[in-house]
Amino acid sequence: MAEGLAELRARIAAACAAAGRDAGEITLIAVTKTFPASDVRLLAGLGLTEIGENRDQEARPKAAECADLPLTWHFVGRLQTNKARAVARYAGVVHSVDRSGLVAALSDAAVRAGRTLRCLVQVSLDEAPPDHERGRGGALPAEVPGLADEIAGAGNLELGGVMAVAPLGADPLPAFARLAGVADEVRRAHPSAAVVSAGMSGDLEQAITCGATHLRVGTALLGGRRAIVR
Ligand SMILES: *Cc1c(COP(=O)(O)O)cnc(C)c1O
Repeated sequence: MAEGLAELRARIAAACAAAGRDAGEITLIAVTKTFPASDVRLLAGLGLTEIGENRDQEARPKAAECADLPLTWHFVGRLQTNKARAVARYAGVVHSVDRSGLVAALSDAAVRAGRTLRCLVQVSLDEAPPDHERGRGGALPAEVPGLADEIAGAGNLELGGVMAVAPLGADPLPAFARLAGVADEVRRAHPSAAVVSAGMSGDLEQAITCGATHLRVGTALLGGRRAIVR
């Protein structure tokens, strides 16, 4: 794990150097889905504080087991409205806010929990086919500014910025460039919403080129998952 982290830091440093960016601008989120709480503990021992999970059923007990550690939990998966209350109790950041109903549910849940949740608008970067099914979640780029305004105006929510997953089987660079445009638009209306969560093990260089501030990395740190859960 320490070796994986060192290699990852070297990749991030090289990509930042190539892009003329400071590696200190990049926040690394370790995505620990399918790995046990003991691995989260090891990562914390290596100095990581940002932990990502994509399913409430798995994240909730892990967060409870690691409650003694100084961690921030990032919820990065699709979120059902009826899970908002559970997630609001342990998550610090929700990356996958893609619809109005979820903004309302998260705000209500955060108020009840007496916590503030940082929210990112998940942007769909798929080229929308005519019968766009939004299999992997995300708001259409045109919907993003409105959702950002809703989050900024909702009780106990703080607008952090935007998040995206590169489209499957397509060049991530133009997709992340589109995301950068959407992020700029959000930041013009909400100057403090500067987070651009993009880039995973396979495409973090392209994400850094396009201005990502937060990387979500699983495989490159922890190795392959037995079942890929998206
Ligand atoms: C699993 C996951 C990641 C990490 O992916 P790796 O390719 O293992 O680095 C990042 N973001 C989301 C939303 C994920 O579900």
